[in-house]
Amino acid sequence: MRINQTDPGWTPPHCPNRKCKYHNHSGGPWPWRRRGFYRCRSVPVPVQRLDCRACGVTFSTQTFSVSYWLKRPDLLERIFMRVTGCMCARQIARDLGCSPETVSRLIARLGRHCLLYHMEVWRQQAPQGPVVVDGFESFEYSQYHPIHHHVAVEKETDFWLYHTDSELRRKGRMTGAQKRRRADIEALHGRPDPRSIRKDMQELLEVTLSRAADAVVLSDEHRSYPPAIRAVACRIRHQVTNSKKPRTPGNPLFAVNLLDLLIRHSQANHKRETIAFSKRRQGSAERLAILQVWRNYMKWRREKRPGKTPAMLKGMMAQPLTLAILLEKRLFPGRVALPPRWGEYYARTVRTRELGSNRGHQLEYAF
Ligand SMILES: [Zn+2]
Repeated sequence: MRINQTDPGWTPPHCPNRKCKYHNHSGGPWPWRRRGFYRCRSVPVPVQRLDCRACGVTFSTQTFSVSYWLKRPDLLERIFMRVTGCMCARQIARDLGCSPETVSRLIARLGRHCLLYHMEVWRQQAPQGPVVVDGFESFEYSQYHPIHHHVAVEKETDFWLYHTDSELRRKGRMTGAQKRRRADIEALHGRPDPRSIRKDMQELLEVTLSRAADAVVLSDEHRSYPPAIRAVACRIRHQVTNSKKPRTPGNPLFAVNLLDLLIRHSQANHKRETIAFSKRRQGSAERLAILQVWRNYMKWRREKRPGKTPAMLKGMMAQPLTLAILLEKRLFPGRVALPPRWGEYYARTVRTRELGSNRGHQLEYAF
């Protein structure tokens, strides 16, 4: 919570009510007034209450804070670095002295904040130089449910542009018992769409190249990629590299190979043979959004050559982003346009087949 509660000059930037005509207001006067103070346990000083004279909604300085409706406002910052430092929810909970459910809820909240932050800062600018795309393999719930997280990265800056995901059918070598188990699961819960990789790669490219008239896209030889590329409105020159080629810095796909390594190195749910695997790919996408903000805006592009983050190389920022600035203010989903898949991530509507109940995000206050 960064808003200075004692600053008498603080003015609300817009109405927090998403149905109000002043919600998307930016700059200039709008009709609000101060309505006294109240006290709450998590803020040490009296909190200013205000109301919107257009829609009548009352709110406070806290409404614009990332710690709005949080009992433990200190946890957000501390969880952020632990998620990018490869700890699972239970380990973080032990470390911070709170319950694993609190950690999972706050990771989801940080993930939503990071989805909005990246879209607000990036603004789907046309990429700088070639774009490298790939599908990162992992699984949700059990190894009977493999998934791909599709990622797009700029070759020249390592800026991570966007990500989507696909659920896949389990393939590869299986014992007779495993084949029977797969048949039972599919009979009960259905099969993933066999065209999911093509569709989700198409959205990845459509969002990444929405402002580009032409582009160079580099990928491996996956056979679903050419039809996805043909379906995108942008003129694309597609360069293919054999995935067996050594994954050295000289490999044309190095930017995405490095990102794959970084994801596996930094997130507990994607380690090989882990017991911290994602129960839902929804949760995996939220963790990826946190990692994406850290990778693009906070972390040096190369650890051995510090001084520039990918966002600094692109000229988007003069300095690395700090956690204090990232969590400076609450971001409102009604004010930032999210692409289709990220809209689903925000609402938590990505379904995991075998789970009876997939909890969505319907909270109004604890956003
Ligand atoms: Zn209003």
